Amino acid sequence: IEQSAYHNDKLAMLGKISAAIAHEIRNPLTSIRGFIQLLLPELKKLGREEYGRIILSEIDRANEIIYEFLNSSKPSAPDKRQVSMAELLREVTLLFQSEALMKGCQIELLPVSETLMVDVDAKQIKQVFLNIVKNAVEVLGEREGGIQGRVRVQAERRDDGIWVSFEDNGKGMDAKTLSRLFDPFFTTKLEGTGLGLSVSYRIIKNHGGAIHVESEVGVGTTFRVQLPL
Ligand code: ADP
Ligand code: MG
Repeated sequence: IEQSAYHNDKLAMLGKISAAIAHEIRNPLTSIRGFIQLLLPELKKLGREEYGRIILSEIDRANEIIYEFLNSSKPSAPDKRQVSMAELLREVTLLFQSEALMKGCQIELLPVSETLMVDVDAKQIKQVFLNIVKNAVEVLGEREGGIQGRVRVQAERRDDGIWVSFEDNGKGMDAKTLSRLFDPFFTTKLEGTGLGLSVSYRIIKNHGGAIHVESEVGVGTTFRVQLPL
């Protein structure tokens, strides 16, 4: 997937705007949230407690989006340290284990050499892996035909870098979706932000790596992250 100038400009702009907006919107949201909470007993008396709950959950959703914006505007220089790839992947897969189980799906982490170390900003790379696994788990629920959903994660060292792959047997993507995958705000989900992959793309670029994607409708998708040695 080629990175276009358009993509770069949009991301840089997104960073500036999001940081500014986040601060201006977060504070009023916090006070709205507080007052609604104080009003809950009154709403209950009116038999309208449900309205309060909806307002609270919508505020939480707005906050989540702001959080993702902020994440995407973080300083780009990675704070690199030596970290264990096996440990990083264990942490990430563990986070989604219960969600996958609830959907009757499986997250499979193939054995990763305990000596495989990477020189990365662990927080940023963890964010990338989380974004990719999250997307995979989200599409697994949509699998038809009684096939068990599965995400297979593996990592290995090759001559040209450390490769981490995430292979799902979810619904896959058509060519049009594939071509826009890394565009900021591109989403096919009702409640998506379309930021996960654009942010991941930038983080990996900043690490001198690359993201490769293969997908086939009805078969599944594989994301391959390449990190320099
Ligand atoms: P969001 O998850 O908020 O939609 P992302 O940037 O994480 O934003 O993903 C963008 C889009 O890429 C998704 O809406 C989806 O259409 C597509 N996508 C990403 N990962 C997968 C996957 N594993 N299988 C199918 N489609 C995917
Ligand atoms: Mg996502």
